[in-house]
Amino acid sequence: GDDKDGYYKHRVGEVLGGRYQVQHALGKGMFSGVVRAMDVETKKLVAIKIMRNNDALKKGGFTEIAILEKLNESDPDDRRHVVKFERSFEFRGHLCMVFEHLGYNLREILKKYGLNVGITLKATKAYAYQIFVALAHMRKCNIIHADLKPDNILVNENHTILKICDLGTAIDRSDAATAQTTITPYLVSRFYRAPEVILGIPYDYGVDVWSIGCTLFELYTGKILFTGDSNNQMLKAIMEVRGRITPKLYKRGQLSPQHFDEKGQFVSIERDKILGKTTARTLQIIKPTRDIRTRLAAVSSGLSEAETRDLNNFIDLLDHCLALNPEKRIKPLDALKHPFFSAAKSSHSHSHSARR
Ligand code: ADP
Ligand code: MG
Repeated sequence: GDDKDGYYKHRVGEVLGGRYQVQHALGKGMFSGVVRAMDVETKKLVAIKIMRNNDALKKGGFTEIAILEKLNESDPDDRRHVVKFERSFEFRGHLCMVFEHLGYNLREILKKYGLNVGITLKATKAYAYQIFVALAHMRKCNIIHADLKPDNILVNENHTILKICDLGTAIDRSDAATAQTTITPYLVSRFYRAPEVILGIPYDYGVDVWSIGCTLFELYTGKILFTGDSNNQMLKAIMEVRGRITPKLYKRGQLSPQHFDEKGQFVSIERDKILGKTTARTLQIIKPTRDIRTRLAAVSSGLSEAETRDLNNFIDLLDHCLALNPEKRIKPLDALKHPFFSAAKSSHSHSHSARR
């Protein structure tokens, strides 16, 4: 049966699609529940994404499948770090997608290490490289992922191989229907949302690079880079770290008048949760007060000379991923050539361990 929101309520041991024996739940998102199952034909583990029973979501599911097939078919040797989709079937009104089974998502890995503890720089580097390979592949296939964040990045059981998943909100720019992106200020999960999306500036592949900049910072520090309870407060957080958004940039945005006054000053709209009141005040944000270098240095101590060089390269890469102007943001192919990946390897702790 289904619950009231249309999620399928699975039972352990039941067989889906005449072939997949359900073991346990792997995750639950906005659009689906995902279960681990045994493929009784191949005796291999799979992950089955069971879409909510809802016509709009089902239609979205077919787009997701088309995009997955495109990404998989142009990567026959499985070297581009996008999750492998096997097949789909319908079960009691639910669209079900069968995937190769992977171990954990990066959010779960961070949680395991505890609050505000990230992974080592060496592990961050290994993951970052694989993520940019995936991004370059998606770029080549004209796909914007549009929901990159730790929850949608999976690693295998021994933590060495990473794959991007959840193409549920991805956009195919070579599809005539979606060639022109439309202004949608809620595209991408809020903390990972690029400023052009918030401002209503036509966006492109660069939204994914922004999300990955946020994600890599979070992997290394264990802390979310930008937080805010609204798009307006996201802009405030972004400017506190990255400096002010110039008039030249915000004037290109259809939604900028919601955030900047006629004089070009940022209008911070703050909600008092307890009193339920909203206040608007203009703020002059010129110099960043919480820049990335300071925040990364605060969590890195006792580094060797080689590690310091590595950290500086990491900071430089993040700086290029988080350019406020989307045209200035680094492209995935260039990111792969960044010194963070090519400079001499640092030699310290094992990739499984948390950084303390
Ligand atoms: P949604 O669109 O509902 O967010 P996702 O595709 O992101 O769906 O899947 C939800 C969660 O299920 C993921 O965050 C992850 O934890 C888990 N999951 C998805 N695919 C797999 C997979 N192939 N192997 C292991 N876990 C998976
Ligand atoms: Mg998801």
